[in-house]
Amino acid sequence: AIEAPSVLIPGLLHPRVTERLRSAFSLVHLASSDPALLTEEMKARVRGIASAGQVDAAFIDALPNLEIIANFGVGYDGVDARHAGLRGIMVTNTPDVLTEEVADAAVGLLINTVRELPRAEAWLRDGRWVSEGGYRLTPGTLRGRRIGIFGMGRIGRAIARRLEAFGLPIAYHNRRPVEGLAYAYHPTLKELALSVDTLVSVAPATPQTAKIVDAGIFEALGANGVFVNVGRGATVDEAALVDALSKGTILAAGLDVFADEPNVPQALIDLPNATLLPHVASATVHTRKAMADLAADNIFSWFSHARRALTPVPETGHVTARI
Ligand code: NDP
Repeated sequence: AIEAPSVLIPGLLHPRVTERLRSAFSLVHLASSDPALLTEEMKARVRGIASAGQVDAAFIDALPNLEIIANFGVGYDGVDARHAGLRGIMVTNTPDVLTEEVADAAVGLLINTVRELPRAEAWLRDGRWVSEGGYRLTPGTLRGRRIGIFGMGRIGRAIARRLEAFGLPIAYHNRRPVEGLAYAYHPTLKELALSVDTLVSVAPATPQTAKIVDAGIFEALGANGVFVNVGRGATVDEAALVDALSKGTILAAGLDVFADEPNVPQALIDLPNATLLPHVASATVHTRKAMADLAADNIFSWFSHARRALTPVPETGHVTARI
């Protein structure tokens, strides 16, 4: 009999991925993606990885027969995809299936940030409506705002569609303008920030975007400025953001992502004008199931006769199976 290929699952992963893969693969579970945890037998056997966490170059190099890494999530900054590409190893992510869900959450976070809805609810729950009267009129409003989107990709466009329906003008920054898109394009993030008062970031974490949202960007947004981040925390200089929020350089910020999750700086937690969420933008039963299916389907597709991945990341688009 032909032995089923072994797929390694380092750390925690959505249970549906495991359930799906179990039918056709021999699964190897590991506490984390630490090469020191690999036995010689695992090193020889493992041909695939399914993961929602870190897979670095050292871990990839410790597995000589590795062919594919299926990342659970569209953001694959935890995987050294460039290194995988050089080694001829396929990396896949989960685009499209989470786009609308994440855009919904981004708009919810923007409204909560500007209109202080979580704080207004806390006012009611704390009995202050009865004892002190109505919640304050908020200094923030969406009316009259100009929206800038940093990262006008799949999710950025879904956010823009929603905010366009709110009657707000949209501009954006990418490395390149999107063909056929009518929104105003700005060739630098700074120019975008200077031309808007509301910056919604949905950019990936890459070496080029590291801490790119810095003190200069907050100054450019100005005193009525609002910053919302559903992309990645690594793109933000968090110390500069704390400074901008506490000094009134900008009005408010709404964050779903942080530089060192799940550790959120206490200085941010202490700020009343920061609206904070624990990385929940795609976190519904519906969408996480769709992400789990796409991660599993990439592995099925690869090891079937098709030997093709469904959603390869750009760094590994050239990789095909070594049969
Ligand atoms: P896309 O690849 O479709 O969009 C990414 C956009 O960012 C592109 O328009 C790209 O344009 C732009 N971009 C990339 N690098 C740079 C750069 N150096 N400077 C300026 N612009 C840049 O991805 P998605 O829209 O599907 O997802 C975007 C990100 O959202 C993910 O990478 C992930 O990190 C995050 N995310 C967060 C979630 C959450 O739970 N909070 C859930 C899902 C995603 P160009 O190539 O022209 O520069």
